[in-house]
Amino acid sequence: MLFRQLFEPQSSAYTYLIACEDSRRAALIDPVLETVDRDLQLLRDLGLSLEYTIETHIHADHVTGAARLRERTGSKAAVPERSRADHVDLSVREGEPIVVGGCRLNPLYTPGHTDDHHCYFLSWPGAARVFTGDALLIDGCGRTDFQNGDAATLYRSIHDKIFTLPDETLVYPGHDYQHRHVSSVGQERERNPRLGGGRTVEEFIAIMAGLNLPRPKMMDVAVSANRECGEIG
Ligand code: FE
Repeated sequence: MLFRQLFEPQSSAYTYLIACEDSRRAALIDPVLETVDRDLQLLRDLGLSLEYTIETHIHADHVTGAARLRERTGSKAAVPERSRADHVDLSVREGEPIVVGGCRLNPLYTPGHTDDHHCYFLSWPGAARVFTGDALLIDGCGRTDFQNGDAATLYRSIHDKIFTLPDETLVYPGHDYQHRHVSSVGQERERNPRLGGGRTVEEFIAIMAGLNLPRPKMMDVAVSANRECGEIG
């Protein structure tokens, strides 16, 4: 398996490249419109063909690169069924793995940040990984105050679907604002200040209610564009 973690600085967003070394097929999780050329160059440099772009959810802070990448490579846009997006090539559902050559990504339905959110679990000998989108971040989590977010629902998603994975599973988040790259399920379960260390659902709800976060600048543009897989008219 080939793996790369890629960063877009404006939205502090991570994109992940996963590829099968034998078949040279690749997928990008959460590509960003602004970095499509970088991603295409990387695919060329590694001799890969892009089979899927895969969204964790409908983003509010950046526009997906899915439509642009599809135009340029013929890749298929995989989006959670619950996103109700248009121009989707593959509807993602828990229990239906996305197969990229010898790699299998298992979608885990993890609502709470948004009501369509899925994490992706990649089992690989010696290095299981979970791509947690905006559900679980390193020492944090996604906000729960818009896009049908709900704190109690996010608490259940993380505790039931992520914290039940093996301790050593690597956690790759959708964002990090402090230049951290990776965590593990064991570390987050133990010391995530919002969700780990035995925090109760009541404590979590109170923490999330007290955040008072500003509305993302790009929200109106990004959400409507992402409902079309990033096709901007
Ligand atoms: Fe988000």
